Amino acid sequence: MSSYYANPSNEGYTYTKKDGLVGGLCTYGVIKPERHIRQTDDGNVWEAIVIGAGYAGLVAARDLVKAGKKTLLIEARDRVGGRTWSAEVNGTTFEMGGTWVSHVHGRLFAEMQRYGLKDDVSMTRTENGGCDYFTLDTGSGSRKFTHKEAGEMTAKAWGIFINIDGNNGRDICPLPHSTLGNSRVSFSQIQAVDQLSCRDRIDQIKDQLTADELALLESLVPHCGGGSVENIGFLEMIRAQALQNYDIATFEEVWTLYKIREGHSTLARRIFDDATRLGLQYSFKTPIKSIVEKDGIVSVATTTDKIHRAKRVVNTIPIAVLPDIQFDPPLSPLRQEAIKVNQVDYLTKIHAEVEGDLRGLRGCTWPGDFLYIYGDGFCAGGKSTRITSFAGDNRGVLDPLKEPEKLEIALKRFHPMEIKKVVFHDWVSDPYAKAGAAWYPAGFLTKYLAELQKRHGNVLMANADWAFGWKGFIEGAVEQGALAADTILNEIGILGANPGPIPYNSSKL
Ligand SMILES: Cc1cc2nc3c(=O)[nH]c(=O)nc-3n(C[C@H](O)[C@H](O)[C@H](O)COP(=O)(O)OP(=O)(O)OC[C@H]3O[C@@H](n4cnc5c(N)ncnc54)[C@H](O)[C@@H]3O)c2cc1C
Repeated sequence: MSSYYANPSNEGYTYTKKDGLVGGLCTYGVIKPERHIRQTDDGNVWEAIVIGAGYAGLVAARDLVKAGKKTLLIEARDRVGGRTWSAEVNGTTFEMGGTWVSHVHGRLFAEMQRYGLKDDVSMTRTENGGCDYFTLDTGSGSRKFTHKEAGEMTAKAWGIFINIDGNNGRDICPLPHSTLGNSRVSFSQIQAVDQLSCRDRIDQIKDQLTADELALLESLVPHCGGGSVENIGFLEMIRAQALQNYDIATFEEVWTLYKIREGHSTLARRIFDDATRLGLQYSFKTPIKSIVEKDGIVSVATTTDKIHRAKRVVNTIPIAVLPDIQFDPPLSPLRQEAIKVNQVDYLTKIHAEVEGDLRGLRGCTWPGDFLYIYGDGFCAGGKSTRITSFAGDNRGVLDPLKEPEKLEIALKRFHPMEIKKVVFHDWVSDPYAKAGAAWYPAGFLTKYLAELQKRHGNVLMANADWAFGWKGFIEGAVEQGALAADTILNEIGILGANPGPIPYNSSKL
């Protein structure tokens, strides 16, 4: 049980046959009252403004106030967590966005440890739970495999796919936090691989795979990257392989096994509460529309035309939402081009509460409206199971808001099931996300990633979407928030620091 009370958010949906689609779920992440700005500080120049209360923004804000900086956090939503939040529905926790945590996510685990959640993990698929097998439906009928058999087929296909350098990706990505080049591999070697889409690479190796292995690979790629085999860059997969220590055997442990039992909103709330205890002021339900820098001071205008000014800003708005924000001076032409190309992850993630014990269930349908399904523990009461399912980019095919009844049909293709309710967040129509985690097309990383990571004058751009390490993961968000706060503290100084702060000089960068 979390120590928090779950309040209603405007976000998230449930669908039942009886009540249809109902918007708004309860979460520990809702902040009430939504605004806390001391009158004596309002209108003054803040030392820092942090835009966005996802993990990047929360960590940046916490680190800044911890060093005594007068900081304002501005968030468009009514809750903390951004693309990572958990909803409480009749006593069951559902992770609506970012979910799985892993020991290889060192910064995130440090946050879990700091806030007493390190050992508070539960597991997604339950060994020996009901329906403990893997269903594979590739259009020619549904077959059952053991998890071991399915794992071996997937590992074989993935291994051949990834092994472009004869060394399981190690030669192309020997240091995954420096993907764009380092002491072991040159930028031009990486650039050559970055020209390939996942489809290009599959075309090179598909003759070595059986039909089932090919189906598993062709569905795993969009399951990871939320787009299609055609539009996800192959370098993204090499990078993912490198980050999980070059071994598909650890894929489940790293990507889809461990969750925070009390839900991510508990961790996000603990970071937020720690920051407010240390003096953070904030304004929720406050979308911003422009960021203007003049004479070194940055003005942030909200959609209600309120202006807040600061010496430094940490902007954590995701890439897909950046076109909605006006920048003056304008963003660099290369960054603007990157934003226009944009990421490709338009995934759908759906939960359902189903009658009985399906905790061991796993499966893949390809082609299909959903790609993968996971039994995900009992719901409260222990008589029904929570299941989690993913689709790649299904825009125009399966719109959960327009045709929620189709979700049930798609889920039943994996296994017969009595669905009590469906629970989800539609990330694609969400105005403050507009997409899922960031995965990019061929050619993008070598052309734009370094530009996205750059600051824009006194605006530090910090988001998991362009992290150095676990880009597109919670870990990457924590990295980005911590780095931005650290940069600001180096520039504007912390109390008692000696020598004094170094002024920021853009001409030297
Ligand atoms: C369905 C799904 C599943 C995922 N699964 C995993 C997983 O299992 N493991 C994992 O590690 N990662 C996962 N991820 C990725 C992870 O959730 C994200 O990478 C991470 O949460 C991003 O954090 P962030 O702080 O960088 O950005 P965000 O969380 O997007 O935070 C940005 C904040 O800015 C706010 N904002 C946007 N526009 C404005 C505006 N105009 N004014 C004010 N505020 C604004 C947003 O509301 C948001 O709160 C998943 C993501 C999704 C969507």
